Amino acid sequence: MSNLIVNVNNPYDVIYEQGCLDRAGSIIADKLVFSRAFILTDRNVGPIYLERLEQSFKNEGKEVFSYKMDCGDTSKNLESYGFIIDKMVEIGIRKDDLIVALGGGVVGDMAGFISSSYMRGLNLIQIPTSFLAQIDSSIGGKTGLNTAFCKNVIGTISQPKLVLVDVDLIKTLPRKEVINGMGEAIKYAVLMGGESLGIIEKGLGGGNIERFIQLCGQYKSSLVEADEYDRGKRRLLNLGHTIGHAIETASDYSISHGLAVAKGIKFMMDVALKKGSIKETDYNRLISIFNKYGIDTSIDYDANELYKFVLLDKKGREGKISYIEILALGYCRISTIELESFKEMLDETLSNKN
Ligand code: ADP
Ligand code: ZN
Repeated sequence: MSNLIVNVNNPYDVIYEQGCLDRAGSIIADKLVFSRAFILTDRNVGPIYLERLEQSFKNEGKEVFSYKMDCGDTSKNLESYGFIIDKMVEIGIRKDDLIVALGGGVVGDMAGFISSSYMRGLNLIQIPTSFLAQIDSSIGGKTGLNTAFCKNVIGTISQPKLVLVDVDLIKTLPRKEVINGMGEAIKYAVLMGGESLGIIEKGLGGGNIERFIQLCGQYKSSLVEADEYDRGKRRLLNLGHTIGHAIETASDYSISHGLAVAKGIKFMMDVALKKGSIKETDYNRLISIFNKYGIDTSIDYDANELYKFVLLDKKGREGKISYIEILALGYCRISTIELESFKEMLDETLSNKN
């Protein structure tokens, strides 16, 4: 077992322990006073893990309720939010009860938004079950819902009271979801360099994956501590996302977020190589990583098409745009440039590749 403290305004623990799902009730009861828990999960994860989690609460003499929402990002909407809220009212969930997110990023975002809005605030516990949620989204308090036209446009920053990471849970994750998580995993390796990059290069087998998940958690928590509300340093986590979001939108979401981010990172590496700001050995190291995991980093859209979607994204402000520049593996920085220069960067980089 290992423990990480996220030192924000209201500090909380991230506990990494294999098999902790079965002890969740007692771990939570040691930290918080409550008598009832409402577990939000989805229709894939619920049938596999819900019973064990419910039992762990019952063992502590707690009352437990649950709801399995539909799976996938399209379920993260206001209609399903309203439906779950109605369920909670019907059950009689009160301010001093808990909401527990048992699932991937979708469940985590929905439970997070409910926790920050239901009766003006409910304690939240995150139990992430996907690779992506374990390395990234369960820490840091970002919550989000989509509208028909805009992803994550409704949301808050509202920290959980505790995060429980049981690496065993990702054993049942479908392979395509592991690959989706790899895009963000490689992002962390590029940002952190060092040990995490070495692990990604060697492979995530054996105990490596647990160590890697912890390294990502440590790094993310350091950024969240420095910049809880995402106005400064935390934005480093947007590496590969400016181009990544544009690719995701241009593909009408047929390209997954993780894959789009991987393509966005490769794009930023191309930019850095062209500018001479990274060494060719670093560039080749990253290409070998993409190849190792079978990640296709080609971009099938032209500069004009992607630029159109970049402009729609929230990062373009007053003629300027921020993006994360790679200076070396393990050394990135936030850069702001004129939109015109950004467009030139797109033109130059995309004309020489694929
Ligand atoms: P994210 O990748 O942001 O975590 P989701 O919450 O949509 O996105 O999770 C991805 C998919 O994987 C969903 O269909 C979800 O039901 C499924 N899933 C999540 N965790 C597990 C797990 N441990 N076992 C099996 N399926 C899972
Ligand atoms: Zn992302």
